[in-house]
Amino acid sequence: MSEKPMREPSCLFCGKPLRHSLVDLGMSPLCESYVSREQLNQMELFYPLHALVCDGCFLVQLDEYVSPEHIFTEYAYFSSYSDSWVTHMEKYTEMIIERFGLNAGSFVVEVASNDGYLLQHFVARKIPVLGIEPAANIAEVAEKKGIPTLVKFFGEQTAMELAKEGKKADLIAGANVLAQVPRPNDFVKGLKVLLKPHGVVTIEFPHLMRLMEENQFDTIYHEHFSYFSFLTVEKIFAAHGLVLFDVEEIPTHGGSLRIFARHAEDDTKPVCERVEEMRERELEAGFCRLETYSSFGEKVHETKRKLLEFLIGVKRQGKTVVGYGAPGKGNTLLNFCGIRTDFIDYTVDRNTYKQGKFLPGTHIPILHPDRIRETKPDYVMILPWNFKDEIMSQISYVRDWGGRFVVPIPEVKVW
Ligand SMILES: [Zn+2]
Repeated sequence: MSEKPMREPSCLFCGKPLRHSLVDLGMSPLCESYVSREQLNQMELFYPLHALVCDGCFLVQLDEYVSPEHIFTEYAYFSSYSDSWVTHMEKYTEMIIERFGLNAGSFVVEVASNDGYLLQHFVARKIPVLGIEPAANIAEVAEKKGIPTLVKFFGEQTAMELAKEGKKADLIAGANVLAQVPRPNDFVKGLKVLLKPHGVVTIEFPHLMRLMEENQFDTIYHEHFSYFSFLTVEKIFAAHGLVLFDVEEIPTHGGSLRIFARHAEDDTKPVCERVEEMRERELEAGFCRLETYSSFGEKVHETKRKLLEFLIGVKRQGKTVVGYGAPGKGNTLLNFCGIRTDFIDYTVDRNTYKQGKFLPGTHIPILHPDRIRETKPDYVMILPWNFKDEIMSQISYVRDWGGRFVVPIPEVKVW
């Protein structure tokens, strides 16, 4: 990593100078840099975590503080670890195969294919696939499952190489990749190059409207460079010759959009009514006015005050609080609020990669989920709140000793 000279940040999409703050979450370590026991006494890197909004295209984005290569070459997130996520992807596979008539003669590419959690469903139906995944350790897991995976960042260059080899796609899928793309223009250009004339692109990303309405500020972290409204994403795709012809609202990550794109030249797929409806809704909600964005910071500060108030209250009563999960969003929340082992004794995670390590910045230990049964805490704070129903039913035994669940977002609530 090299030091960056001071300069005015500019918009990742349209290039205008970025002069407006959405929310400043202070200094934070990279949320996936789990700390080992040996590293506990060492220095840790913290970077500014400040979301800005462009007054030209309303793309919400972070200034580039950390190089993407640094973040994504050994990423700890394995998609398959969540049951509801796997189910979500199975349903998607069925829907997309039927709607666009995919078969053994089709070719499906997934960008940021992770451990093959999605493509495995296409492989099971004998549809040829290719995963593109920049994290080598994760691509290796996919390859072992029989999913051909190219270890690369996706962009125009990679797309041209594949196109040259005759590997253009009937379907390009991407779930949770758009936010993590450091150069959205290069990424969308790549989609355009890789897509067959009548092919379809589907991309899922957390919906900025939901993030702001439901105060999901903890989904802002260094790994997520941009945060999209439908209006903005439509502009970006249009700039590269792609038309959004359908959009679905899906429940993942606290509320996401799934957009369907095609070549502007492809007149076989008419634009659905849902596209116009979504545009209207965002316009009415003020997503093309700067004022809508400028009030968000204060809402976030108030959430922090309420959460700390709750934690101080229960700790004064001598109660014990532990965490559940070690997701990226937990790290933003805990670092921003200054919550360490003074409030939360430990957290647990099913992912064995994280067990025995410590959360970045706060150094809260990550243990095996069985620890909750052993220590019988009064409160379990669910950090991946988007999976709260799944988690509350998985560890419902917490209620046997009178334990309660706490969800911190959109504001602290005890269940
Ligand atoms: Zn812009």
